[in-house]
Amino acid sequence: MPEGDTVYRTAKNLDAALRGDTLTRCDIRVPAFATVDLTGDTVESVVSRGKHLLIRVGEHSIHSHLKMEGSWHLYRHGTKWRRPAWQARAILETDDWVAVGFELGVLDVVARDDESSVVGYLGPDLLGPDWDADEALRRLTADPSRAVGLALLDQRVMAGLGNVYRNELCFLRGILPTRPVEDVDRPERLVDLAQRLIDANKDRVERTTTGSLRGETAWVYRREGKPCLRCGTRIEHGELGDTALELRDVYWCPRCQS
Ligand SMILES: [Zn+2]
Repeated sequence: MPEGDTVYRTAKNLDAALRGDTLTRCDIRVPAFATVDLTGDTVESVVSRGKHLLIRVGEHSIHSHLKMEGSWHLYRHGTKWRRPAWQARAILETDDWVAVGFELGVLDVVARDDESSVVGYLGPDLLGPDWDADEALRRLTADPSRAVGLALLDQRVMAGLGNVYRNELCFLRGILPTRPVEDVDRPERLVDLAQRLIDANKDRVERTTTGSLRGETAWVYRREGKPCLRCGTRIEHGELGDTALELRDVYWCPRCQS
């Protein structure tokens, strides 16, 4: 699943290509918005809010979320798409570009002044210009008995973290993801590290949490059964979620984390 850094970069690329230009085609292929046609309107900006993307066109915002399989691609007119056409959910064209949103997990169109209806619930945006570490800390510690591994994924606490970062952050702070938030030593450091880690990756195509881009790019994520890069102990794997339907993979070193 794409993390906030991927969405941030997607927004930046779309913004650079589309900003200020008029849509010459607007094809939204989800039933509820199939009749929406913003052709002739100007793309004002493209921004990310956590893992959400907002393409602001005229008086509207095209809101999307990549979920598990989604992606936005930019093509020059007449070039071959890298994903099959039947996966396209939105096609936006300008004189210079064709922007295609494939398999978007969420896609809707809202009035510009109603963006809060789709992103208003989000916590401070880790990569936003209005990032607020104090507010993120307040939200993180508001439910002291909650597992820290769940709180980190909760977009109402901080917006932008996905499963890679929540696992890596727990390792880097030496805490098991199942531990309650109240057991986290200096939680403000966890918030600070989350922001620094995702910020360091926001302009890279390949993500790393170890500082290495050639060798191992993660300490624990998807490394179950392999030796811990710090102590050599085998990395463990399990699942964690608020409910049985929301289970997500967790990875940890039983020696480095407690
Ligand atoms: Zn270890």
